[in-house]
Amino acid sequence: MTETPMLGFIGLGNMGLPMASRLLAAGHKLVAFDLRREACDALAAQGAEIATSPRAVADRAKTVFLSLPTPQVVRAVIEGQHQAEGLIGAASIKVLVDLSTTGASITKALAQQVQAVGIRYVDSPVSGGVNGAVKGTLAVMCACARTDYESLEALLSVFGKAFHVGETPGLGQSMKLANNMLSATAMAASAEAIAFGVKQGLDPMVMAEVINVSTGANTAIRDKFPKAIIPRLFNFGFASGLMNKDVQLCLQEAQACGVPMAVGSAVGAIWNETVEQLGAESDFTEVAKIIETKAGVVIEVKTPSSKE
Ligand code: NAD
Repeated sequence: MTETPMLGFIGLGNMGLPMASRLLAAGHKLVAFDLRREACDALAAQGAEIATSPRAVADRAKTVFLSLPTPQVVRAVIEGQHQAEGLIGAASIKVLVDLSTTGASITKALAQQVQAVGIRYVDSPVSGGVNGAVKGTLAVMCACARTDYESLEALLSVFGKAFHVGETPGLGQSMKLANNMLSATAMAASAEAIAFGVKQGLDPMVMAEVINVSTGANTAIRDKFPKAIIPRLFNFGFASGLMNKDVQLCLQEAQACGVPMAVGSAVGAIWNETVEQLGAESDFTEVAKIIETKAGVVIEVKTPSSKE
């Protein structure tokens, strides 16, 4: 009987923790690490082993997943502060699957560095939010050699629907940045449109219901307004700082390859303002508050007394 191989997982945040939980629930053995003790404890309670560092994860597991916040953190974990700390040079690692959103340029550079020491690099950002991570309905945007994709496809399917978007690491990131620019645009533009309607006297929940079956339908109006903004919960589980990182990365990379983004630049300014005023840790649905303040409205269900 062959032994179930040990998988590694580094970064147990809003996305990483539910994705790692799904691997455990699917019967995989897991060794994991996060800087936050409470995230490690939560996964240990589900049967994972907890390592003392990213390097210790890669000393034990052949396939290691990363779900880390920024390109800088991904680089630091791969390279390590000192030679003895990074994933490069660890005893077991053969395949590195980066689920984080980092942008194409750093991914290309890291892939080269990692592949030079014999580790396969799988660029594999995801979309679908915390809910998708919990339910296993993420879109997984994989860019790597086809043979690597084929050997990982079953594993990636634990997270959702896997797509092989290209052979070269970086293409998954470009795919993801294009998607998130659209998602950020839908969020900001929908906040403006709903604020306009509310100021005119419409109920935002009624607006969402109508738009959802009209030509303005989008994921912000479908999910974020009814679930997080109109009920004033602002708890969608994606930080404004991370959304802003994705938008600014997309703008930089579009500029570098000569693609104009006039709409994207305006969207980028709104996300910069959100982070400046509400902090990088604020939930990205709080961008609506920035628009509300300027419009002098609150996007909430109309109380009977406020209805005409
Ligand atoms: P998060 O901030 O909730 O989680 C990141 C985790 O990484 C945290 O638990 C943090 O403690 C840990 N971490 C930071 N530095 C570390 C280090 N040096 N070693 C080990 N752990 C470290 O972020 P998230 O929302 O889970 O997002 C993770 C990645 O996925 C990001 O790149 C994000 O852009 C992307 N993403 C997020 C969403 C979402 O809806 N939240 C959706 C799709 C993609």
